Amino acid sequence: MPDNTSKLTRRRFLTATAGGIVSAGLLNLTPARTLAQESDGDTAAAGGNIIHRTLGRTGLNVPIVSMGVMNASNPEIVQASYEIGIRHFDTAAYYQFGRNEQMVGSVINRLKARDKIVLASKIHTPGQRRGLPPEESKKKLIEACEASLRRLGTDFIDVLYVHDVGDPETVADKAIIEGMEILKEQKKVLYTGVATHTRMNEVIEAVVQGGFYDVVLTAVNFTMAENTALLESIRKAAEQGVAIVAMKALAGGARWPNPQARQNYSSSTIATAALKWVLRNENIATSIPGYTNYEHMQEDFSVARNLEYTDEEKKLLSDNNVKLSLGYCHQCRKCLATCPEGVDIPNLMRTHMYAAQYGNFHQARATLNDIPSGAGLRHCGDCSSCRAQCANTVDIAHRIEELKMIYC
Ligand code: SF4
Ligand code: SF4
Repeated sequence: MPDNTSKLTRRRFLTATAGGIVSAGLLNLTPARTLAQESDGDTAAAGGNIIHRTLGRTGLNVPIVSMGVMNASNPEIVQASYEIGIRHFDTAAYYQFGRNEQMVGSVINRLKARDKIVLASKIHTPGQRRGLPPEESKKKLIEACEASLRRLGTDFIDVLYVHDVGDPETVADKAIIEGMEILKEQKKVLYTGVATHTRMNEVIEAVVQGGFYDVVLTAVNFTMAENTALLESIRKAAEQGVAIVAMKALAGGARWPNPQARQNYSSSTIATAALKWVLRNENIATSIPGYTNYEHMQEDFSVARNLEYTDEEKKLLSDNNVKLSLGYCHQCRKCLATCPEGVDIPNLMRTHMYAAQYGNFHQARATLNDIPSGAGLRHCGDCSSCRAQCANTVDIAHRIEELKMIYC
């Protein structure tokens, strides 16, 4: 039923919650950059205060649960997130072909909240994508940032990421670094970062060694508990003042119809357990779950007040069947060697995650479009060589079949 009544109730709840925060003196309305220095309290208080952490050497201080706006297209959710206490919003030029930035910018400006929040966006570097000469790449990078600023309706971005970095060479790319330096000199960008979901530990190590970027947005979740290389690189980065922001924290599958997990656990348990697993690691500053409705927003943000596991969450995290049934693609790229047609299986698995798990068909289409010609869906010859080749129990062939049903 819909839902004016329940919406009203939610609105009242949110207003009451925000009011409670204000009256408790916890909703600091000073600019985010000042806020950073004033509320550096990493204290976990069960059911109590919002836990904040500092984004490494940037000094920006935010609640440990932020909003990944990628999947959202309803401005009300962005506004409600601000009202509930979220102070860090993550978007990208690429999301919804620019409309995601426009939506975030319009809400933030309507709320007159620009100075109270940390705004992060991402751009694909033209050099990285099209192999342009360095000067041209630098120029296009600056233009891409300026286009983001226009869509966001702001003069500056707090953290600008290079989007989708999957190798250490891109981290060290001089043209990108010089372009970012110009943007910082012009005060269009305050801090820089890289976003990665492929070869994450190598990318993070390169950021630490390079010393230029301030933040890494990385995929990390409980299905990676045995990835000691990744966890160690995260530890080293935090030690060196490089902020780690977590994405894919729900392992892609917490809220999609996963029969095995859903049989035994509620979606709320799966989501909060997964987020807590990530955020109990104090080397991770914040996470950006990509919720799209009020209920999920409240579930996710509840973690910002309490990182203690419930008995049910502990049970879920120790249940190997859950991990297996999620079939989360770690983007390790090991399956590439198994395909006689050179199909870009990892990016097809990401396409599948966006379409089937997130229900974000914009992002799925954009990911599909980015696959180099000759390695796309249509080149899959259904040979089944990749079936059962994945150590992470991703049912590759089945997911490719589903993608073909949608896109071919
Ligand atoms: S499908 Fe499996 S082998 Fe291929 S990239 Fe994903 S996790 Fe790695
Ligand atoms: S089924 Fe398709 S993706 Fe898998 S190995 Fe064969 S050609 Fe490659």
